[in-house]
Amino acid sequence: MSVIKENLELIRSNIKEFAHNVKRSSEDITLIAVTKTVDVDKVLEAIEYGVTDVGENKPQELARKYDIIGDKVKWHLIGSLQTNKVKYIIDKVHMIHSLDRESLCEEIQKRAEKIDRVIDCLVQVNISKEDSKHGLYKEDVIDFITNVSSKYNNIRIKGLMTMAPFTENEDEVREVFRKLKDLSLDIDKLNISNVSMKYLSMGMSNDYKIAIEEGSTIVRLGTSIFGERNYNKQQIK
Ligand SMILES: *Cc1c(COP(=O)(O)O)cnc(C)c1O
Repeated sequence: MSVIKENLELIRSNIKEFAHNVKRSSEDITLIAVTKTVDVDKVLEAIEYGVTDVGENKPQELARKYDIIGDKVKWHLIGSLQTNKVKYIIDKVHMIHSLDRESLCEEIQKRAEKIDRVIDCLVQVNISKEDSKHGLYKEDVIDFITNVSSKYNNIRIKGLMTMAPFTENEDEVREVFRKLKDLSLDIDKLNISNVSMKYLSMGMSNDYKIAIEEGSTIVRLGTSIFGERNYNKQQIK
């Protein structure tokens, strides 16, 4: 049997179990298969086994794979996005998970307006304040969202995204996810026009159990589906 199929079956049953444990429905949790560095044939295999959403962290890689695979899955840009690369993905992406600064909003707005699209985005939050992580500090998120809502008609904020710190300490990871959830509840109460907190994108291969327990609605899994990434390997074009 295919390893990818087996991995997906295990993950789906885990998601059900983790959700069930905290009285949530697994139907409220979307699995994004993170396909960075993964060859197209493997991505297609995952799609065959029911993957509906894929995530890439590099715009050009997303564009290259989109050109082969197309619209049969939803494409998510999950990594930090340089303004000069927005043009590669603006007409392909289902959602951008890494909105974190105004210059990026300006570029998305400009490009989206040109093709008459409204782009769904999540605001990336750096809860743990690690230097290595992108995203806004928690204290700055509400001002940022209020500003985006009033200025950029072709951007629609649909929730928040974060990455947990690199640590073995589960309590620390849980704390980060809990803070993101709390922030989303605070924002929800403000009823900012054009802004919803429908999605919380949190949880990766090694922490999606905790993320689901803390309210995640989107988990982004790479390694647990496709195995360890090989960054040195030549990518199939
Ligand atoms: C690579 C990546 C993931 C997936 O990580 P795994 O540990 O392989 O599951 C999730 N989110 C982002 C933003 C990533 O860059």
